[in-house]
Amino acid sequence: MTEVARIIQSHGKGFVVDLAGRRYRATARRKKTDYAVGDRVEVNVLNEEQAVIEQVLPRSSLLYRSDAFKEKLIAANVTQIAIVLAAVPSFYEELLSRCLVAAEDADIRALIVLNKADLPETAAARPIIAPYCTLGYPMIELSAKTDVAPLWPLLAGQTTVFVGQSGMGKSTLVNALLPEARARTREISEALDSGKHTTTHATLYSLPNGGELIDSPGLQEFGMRHLRVDRMAALFPEYRQYLGQCRFHNCRHDREPDCALTASVARGETLPQRLQLLRKLTSECGK
Ligand code: GDP
Ligand code: ZN
Repeated sequence: MTEVARIIQSHGKGFVVDLAGRRYRATARRKKTDYAVGDRVEVNVLNEEQAVIEQVLPRSSLLYRSDAFKEKLIAANVTQIAIVLAAVPSFYEELLSRCLVAAEDADIRALIVLNKADLPETAAARPIIAPYCTLGYPMIELSAKTDVAPLWPLLAGQTTVFVGQSGMGKSTLVNALLPEARARTREISEALDSGKHTTTHATLYSLPNGGELIDSPGLQEFGMRHLRVDRMAALFPEYRQYLGQCRFHNCRHDREPDCALTASVARGETLPQRLQLLRKLTSECGK
């Protein structure tokens, strides 16, 4: 008889699932790549330690990235993506922008976390982020080293996946939010792995305020070849008001004459780097 469990960790060899508060090491009957942290899955429990994942239950959302060679699931059933940035080392604005597009595509919220607010360099990062706030994406400034309290209300009731380039302070932030849970999870996965060293890909933690936090490994690239070209522009909130106004109904918003998006950049109404990203994503899809 199968029971419903939650995938709370994925690593090189398999998964850790939580079934009514008990943790099991789990392998997948089907391809491992079909499952992600956050998934609700039907499992067969084999013994005190092991379970087999039989199938995944329908997801409310799915975040994934893809390049020319493969697709990789990042997290499932999340309601929010928190993009951790810092002024030092410098962050890639394009990566931020890609994360926001991915959030739109997955129909989940996005939250920009500007960490290391204690550093004077932060002043230079604010004007880069400000236009994204104008688009409607909330931003919170904090210093993970001193106080993460401002983040709590934004995590309550949400399943939030934390992403960021390495060096932005994501580990410091997650540690500050979950000092005990993190150590406990490490113990559990070490015990389940019987001491073998495996790379952890992502881990889900329950927060004391009812939210959930998924810590996903540093993100340096975020390919999105899975996006559909014909609905790409709609993933940029600033373009919604212009949709349908290009001369050609199948405009790729590139070199076409009378493109409403190109015109919006020329008039200074939208950011050139966002249109560049739209074109880049379109050409990456190569369809
Ligand atoms: P990760 O790669 O994103 O997990 O980053 P880490 O958490 O390992 O942090 C990278 C570096 O930034 C470390 O040296 C941290 O001590 C430092 N750091 C993290 N948060 C803050 C912060 O709020 N302020 C300052 N000044 N440094 C921080
Ligand atoms: Zn156009």
